[in-house]
Amino acid sequence: MAYVCLNCGKEIEDIKYFISCVNCGSRILVKRRSNLAKEVSTD
Ligand SMILES: [Zn+2]
Repeated sequence: MAYVCLNCGKEIEDIKYFISCVNCGSRILVKRRSNLAKEVSTD
């Protein structure tokens, strides 16, 4: 499961031991969704 750092935007493909960004050290990570949120047009 991939994660994305909210601080620097780096994608972290595999987190096994460290729940932190390997790039900047931020612990604010979010799960990356396989599909981008679909834009819904109401018009
Ligand atoms: Zn980062």
